[in-house]
Amino acid sequence: LHRNPGETEFHQAVHEVLETLGPVLVKYPEFAEKKIIQRICEPERQIIFRVPWQDDNGEIHINRAFRVEFNSALGPYKGGMRFHPSVYLGIIKFLGFEQIFKNALTGLPIGGGKGGSDFDPKGRSDDEIMRFCQSLMTELSRHIGEYTDVPAGDIGVGQREIGYMFGQYKRITNRYESGVLTGKGLDWGGSRARTEATGYGTVFFTNEMLKARGDSIEGKKVVVSGSGNVAIYAIAKAHELGATVIACSDSAGFIIDEKGIDLAALKQIKLTERRRICDYTEFHKDAKYVEGGSLWSIPCDIALPCATQNELNANDAKALIENGCIAVAEGANMPTTPEGIALFQQSSLLYAPGKAANAGGVATSALEMQQNASRDSWTFDYTQKRLEDIMIDIHKSCYETAAEFGAEGNYVLGANVTGFIKVARAMEAMGVI
Ligand code: NDP
Repeated sequence: LHRNPGETEFHQAVHEVLETLGPVLVKYPEFAEKKIIQRICEPERQIIFRVPWQDDNGEIHINRAFRVEFNSALGPYKGGMRFHPSVYLGIIKFLGFEQIFKNALTGLPIGGGKGGSDFDPKGRSDDEIMRFCQSLMTELSRHIGEYTDVPAGDIGVGQREIGYMFGQYKRITNRYESGVLTGKGLDWGGSRARTEATGYGTVFFTNEMLKARGDSIEGKKVVVSGSGNVAIYAIAKAHELGATVIACSDSAGFIIDEKGIDLAALKQIKLTERRRICDYTEFHKDAKYVEGGSLWSIPCDIALPCATQNELNANDAKALIENGCIAVAEGANMPTTPEGIALFQQSSLLYAPGKAANAGGVATSALEMQQNASRDSWTFDYTQKRLEDIMIDIHKSCYETAAEFGAEGNYVLGANVTGFIKVARAMEAMGVI
């Protein structure tokens, strides 16, 4: 703690992993002797830099940006960039730390990293976004590369921002290095199904948990938080598999539409027009908008938190359990507070942590890297099938590892231990580095 003062979210993420690793150190004492845990908690490299840019009125702004290259035992650092005013080192480190284990779980050759900036894209023009992305990439380009570090999107960073960053990287380096960023557009090196992958993957994982109990997502009532990239495609896949999503949100409030969220309207509002979720009632007069408050008090069978960290607290967890919710799967990173997780784990509800349930996004990014490396472009169906198989495998390994360590059904332990052992074995093989 004293080495990383004030980095609350990082402490929370480390604590959540370390409290499950006791049995691993008993079984494999060499990991303790070789100080794998101490090494894994210290990023290999942290870069902090200034991003100056000019708005449309010529005024100069200065933001701060970060890239934390956490662990490269399994492959190049891999993880998104987040643009949100709340970003500081503690958030990027928590996300980078989680990413190490998540990426290991995918079974693909990618290490863990994360980056971002305290830049607020809300209300900014396209030109302002472009100037900001170009300024950021002018510095970031020195640190990344196909074999070094491969950033992607996250909150506030979608295909538009990846495009501006890729353009600047190409210009500075004079290299068409497709594999340097993922989440690209389909015409310039992107992968089919990448946009949908995190949300789809979260629903595939949810279905696997239910199947392991002889149930399925079909016919279930679902509540999803957020209305960004992850939330929208979680809603899409849940509907495709026969569930009904009755509510979703943004940072100002939430909507309830008992008939099922109209995906076309939601996409038009949030993706095309970049408006607020309250405008959904313009399309569906019978839908209800609630400003502020918590959508987790809405009775449902399945809850998918897909917005941001610590958005679901102990009171929310209590409400979900009391209302008979049977499964919670995290599309977002660390959306449930430690108190909320404890309540889920004391109940009979199925709980999937983000590092397992939302790993489909980064897995498909690794598939994008594979396509870039072979100058190939796969079909949507093939890529989606690969994603589904990866989510089935992640579920299987989490489930089996938990059972092996005497904690059947504990997906937190299953995910942490599976990911940790893979990274620890690689670090051990590479000596003291
Ligand atoms: P987007 O920017 O597309 O959407 C974020 C959504 O969450 C928006 O609806 C936003 O509302 C809401 N939100 C953001 N911050 C807050 C906050 N502080 N309080 C309440 N609501 C908030 O991001 P993504 O959908 O890409 O990411 C969502 C989550 O999923 C994040 O935790 C991210 O780390 C995680 N994730 C994303 C992956 C990806 O592939 N994109 C991969 C794996 C995990 P508003 O518009 O009002 O800000």
